[in-house]
Formats: sequence, structure tokens, C-alpha cells
Amino acid sequence: MFTLHVNLNMVELDNLDVKILTHMQENSRKSLQEIAKNCLTSVPTVKTRVDRLVELGIIRKFTIDIDNTKLGISEAILLVNAKPSAVSRIADELMGLEEVKELYVTPDSDAAIVSRVAGDMQRILAIQDRINLTDVNNIRVISVKSASRKDTTIPLSSSSITISCAYCDKKVTGDAVRKKFDEKNYFFCCSTCQGEFEKKYTKLLAKV
Ligand SMILES: [Zn+2]
Repeated sequence: MFTLHVNLNMVELDNLDVKILTHMQENSRKSLQEIAKNCLTSVPTVKTRVDRLVELGIIRKFTIDIDNTKLGISEAILLVNAKPSAVSRIADELMGLEEVKELYVTPDSDAAIVSRVAGDMQRILAIQDRINLTDVNNIRVISVKSASRKDTTIPLSSSSITISCAYCDKKVTGDAVRKKFDEKNYFFCCSTCQGEFEKKYTKLLAKV
């Protein structure tokens, strides 16, 4: 008696998906043309795959590394001190502004709203003229000199995507061997595992 190990929760990705993700993780600015060329496939194919990966939530976001200063874009931290009753209204108003990129509501009355803003500095400084200031005690804009962010790449190594060998359960690194059984894709770490799986699978089907 043996147990057939099948990871049914596995997201179905094939070798091409994995290759595309790897290229994008290396450099998210790579064009579809470049990726297509590297993966020996067509641009529309890459486009379809990328759209699907976004839809599946595997590619959570594209981060483009732009030197903001060259584009005249400034970044700043916006601190809003406001009456607790007004905080959610102000947060909503701020979220409606194009310059507001991230916003946190805190339990601290001195900085009830902390937000990362980016855009034209004149417009950032004029934010206080663009929102309803009722119950706002104070707004501060602290300009950012340099920013360090950790999450600038596609989280390929995160829990959102793991491909494990359907036979030995080892995490598949590099090129996965893909095989379709019963209209479902299975991935293997090597062709040996694929062969063993196939043998067991066939035997299992024969017993049924
Ligand atoms: Zn294996």
C-alpha cells in the first residue's frame, strides 16, 4: 500500500511561467520583447502569461525603479495631527489625492495620520489647501532625502508560490519537469521522479 502524494493546492505553473517570473524578478523593467526573446516565445504569449500571473495574485505588483529626482518628483512624509473624530474623514480625503501613495492611521494623536506622498513638491506643500481642515490641528511635511525599500522585487520566493515535486516533495528549484496526468499539471524536480510518479500513477489507476 502506498500513498500517492499530490499537492492539490499547488498553483498550476509551467516551465514558461517560472522562466518569465525569474526574468521579471531579475529586472522588472525588462520589456516583454526581451522576456519573449529570452524564453524563446512570442510577445503575445508572454503578455497572456503575465496577465494570468497577475490575476492569480502571483505577481502582486510591478515595481519600477525610477530615479525620482531626475523627473522632478519629490517624496515626503506627511504627518497629520487631528481630532480623533475627524481622522477617518481626513484619511479618505487624502487617499483621494494623487500624491498620497501610502497612508497609516495611528492611535497617536500627534501623528494620527502618517502618509508617504510623492509628486511635485509644490503640490505636496499645498496639500493643506486641498483638503478640508476642520478639526485638523496641524499638518507637517517632512521631505525625504533618500529612501530604502525592501519590497521592490516580485516576491517569487515568498509563500505565494512554491512548486514542490509531486513525487518526492522536494522544493523544485530551477527548471521543473512538467507532466500532465488526467488533465492536471504536475511538477517534478527531475525526470527520475517524474518516471517513478508515472509508474505509481499508472498502477493506481489500474487498481481503481
Ligand atoms: Zn523529486
